[in-house]
Amino acid sequence: MSVWGEPMEETRIGIASACRRELAELAVKQKCCRRALLGGMMISAAVEGETITFTLDEPEAVEAALHLLRQCWSVQTEAEPIRRGAHKTYQITFTSRKAANWLTGLREHGMLTDGCSACYIHFAQGMFIAGGTLTDPEKGLHLEFMVRDPSSVVLGANMLSAIGIEPKCAVRTRGTGFYVKRSETIEELLAALGATKTVFEFINAKIVRDIRNHENRVANCDAGNIRKSVSANQKQLEAIADLRRYGRMDRLDDEQHRTAELREAYPELSLGELGLRMSPPISKSGMYHRMNKIIEIADAVRAEAERKE
Ligand SMILES: [Zn+2]
Repeated sequence: MSVWGEPMEETRIGIASACRRELAELAVKQKCCRRALLGGMMISAAVEGETITFTLDEPEAVEAALHLLRQCWSVQTEAEPIRRGAHKTYQITFTSRKAANWLTGLREHGMLTDGCSACYIHFAQGMFIAGGTLTDPEKGLHLEFMVRDPSSVVLGANMLSAIGIEPKCAVRTRGTGFYVKRSETIEELLAALGATKTVFEFINAKIVRDIRNHENRVANCDAGNIRKSVSANQKQLEAIADLRRYGRMDRLDDEQHRTAELREAYPELSLGELGLRMSPPISKSGMYHRMNKIIEIADAVRAEAERKE
């Protein structure tokens, strides 16, 4: 069954899928580089005798792979859509003794044995198209190449190392993952692979994330200030309440008295706001000194009361 004529799925394309599509649509000039690209796409392929089976997620990748198969190995084949729940992949199966020997040879050597220096990048492109993931930078920084076939793990590691990437390695349920998490490394790698649009999208999403984090920090900081001022107001109100309880409001001079009454009338206002309601208005630091004086007097009254008990 052919892929073509099937309606495109109307789902939001994530950055990983967009990146695989972008890489699949890049033009590759050299014959050796095209074969390397195809080799990367087949890194997780199952090889049984002369029959090779591999899967791809994106229709653009399938189109590129079928085109490369015709060019590199004169293979005419089609892709079969496979649906697993909401996830859809395309399985490509073909038979070619030359291709099977070439791929098996690569896995045995763990390295490309022919081609030019640009072939490594194209192989890595193919690896990403077949099994690359990239986390939405708003959620985290993680780029990973998945190699599902155990006999290709050394090959995958060597090919990434050949383009200057030293990824960390993790055993996953579906295979071996090679991943990088540093923002600069991810950007450099995407740029090296030729995923220019994805690099911009990645950087933009990261900026959005940084702005949002900053806004959250500012909001948290405001909440912290509010909590702080609420507990300061509480201390002032308790001092005034104790002065009243012990009948010692007379210890306050006129200005302190007016300040205490205003605080009782507006328990939620900050000192700065309270100062503006004084007549004449006084500064926040002026209010601070007055309030401290009131608290000091209340402390003295409390101490006296304790001594008497
Ligand atoms: Zn090449």
